[in-house]
Amino acid sequence: MVYLARRLMGYLALTVLGLSCLIPVGCRPRVPAPPPPVVEAPPPEPVTPGPAPRLTQPGAAPRIAALLQQVNLRYDPAMSQEERDRDFAAKISLARRNLGLERIKAMRERSLDLINSNGGVISWEYFRGQKWPDGTPVGVTLVVPVWVPSGAKPVVTYTALAETWEEVALTKPRRAGLVYFAADLEDINNKNGYRPAEMVFEINSLHAPLAALLLEYIYREGVYDPDKRVPLLVVRGGEDTYAAAADSGPVQVDGLTFADETGGDLRATRVRQTYASLAEIHHGRHVKASNHRLGCALDINDFNFTGLVDGIPNQVSASLRHFNRDGMHQLDARNLPEWVFVAAKKVGYRIPQDWTYVRDTRDWPHFDCGTK
Ligand SMILES: [Zn+2]
Repeated sequence: MVYLARRLMGYLALTVLGLSCLIPVGCRPRVPAPPPPVVEAPPPEPVTPGPAPRLTQPGAAPRIAALLQQVNLRYDPAMSQEERDRDFAAKISLARRNLGLERIKAMRERSLDLINSNGGVISWEYFRGQKWPDGTPVGVTLVVPVWVPSGAKPVVTYTALAETWEEVALTKPRRAGLVYFAADLEDINNKNGYRPAEMVFEINSLHAPLAALLLEYIYREGVYDPDKRVPLLVVRGGEDTYAAAADSGPVQVDGLTFADETGGDLRATRVRQTYASLAEIHHGRHVKASNHRLGCALDINDFNFTGLVDGIPNQVSASLRHFNRDGMHQLDARNLPEWVFVAAKKVGYRIPQDWTYVRDTRDWPHFDCGTK
């Protein structure tokens, strides 16, 4: 009995103690709760920068080579869209200040002045060998980072002041740079399969830092956001007449064909086209008035696919569908999305939407310094 009574007392005491601890003024002195432990957020993932834009011969144009390094875009971890755009804008201002290009059409005026004081021949083959007053050569070869589809292969292009592109394709007078060949539309549209690569092309040294900024910006967006990867298969700057070689053998490549040449309907049929050589897809001849002859223009993803109705990719289009940039980019990633045109405008380029014609508006992926 005594044992049982003790146990009961014990229970009672425990119960009372337990209850008293529920009362605000408690059974023991209150100890302030320790502060919550500081949990360090894991550091943001480091970002792998692309290959930095550079000249193939930096020693020949040290001032431009140094400026290119100064305007390299940043690749900070977890950089937001706003931070990336601020960095882009700051580097554009820096480059334009350094080059004395408040308006980039001054690039054309200064080029024509130099040509007129040196013989007056409007040809890239001639002009590229001239020098600016500070000794910088006019013609430089620029290397920039690009995304390409997994199966893309580099293709050498050739250039000359020739009457026809066929002549260049057959005689291969001088190496110009390169383009990439990708045949399969699934591969072209598979952004997660893209790999970083380098694009090589000739350009006016006065233009090089601005072209580098636009192209590095396009590349960098795809680093931070894989959905924004744009496969750049063609980038060309200064040239008169150019072509890939005619002796590549026949090639097959996917394209899209539409119901008409002018409408906005995006319903397309995929077709696999066969061409006698890569020269049939990659060629062109610029007229004397073209800013390409001054190295003051850029063609980005410009191809010559014959046999397609308003097809992708198309050299020149009169259709409304091409102004549906994002819709066309979704169908075939070789078409440039709207944000690329917005970025080009920020650099100061004249973009296709700025061109108006008396009778209609034509569209092709060409960006330049304008004429007036
Ligand atoms: Zn062009």
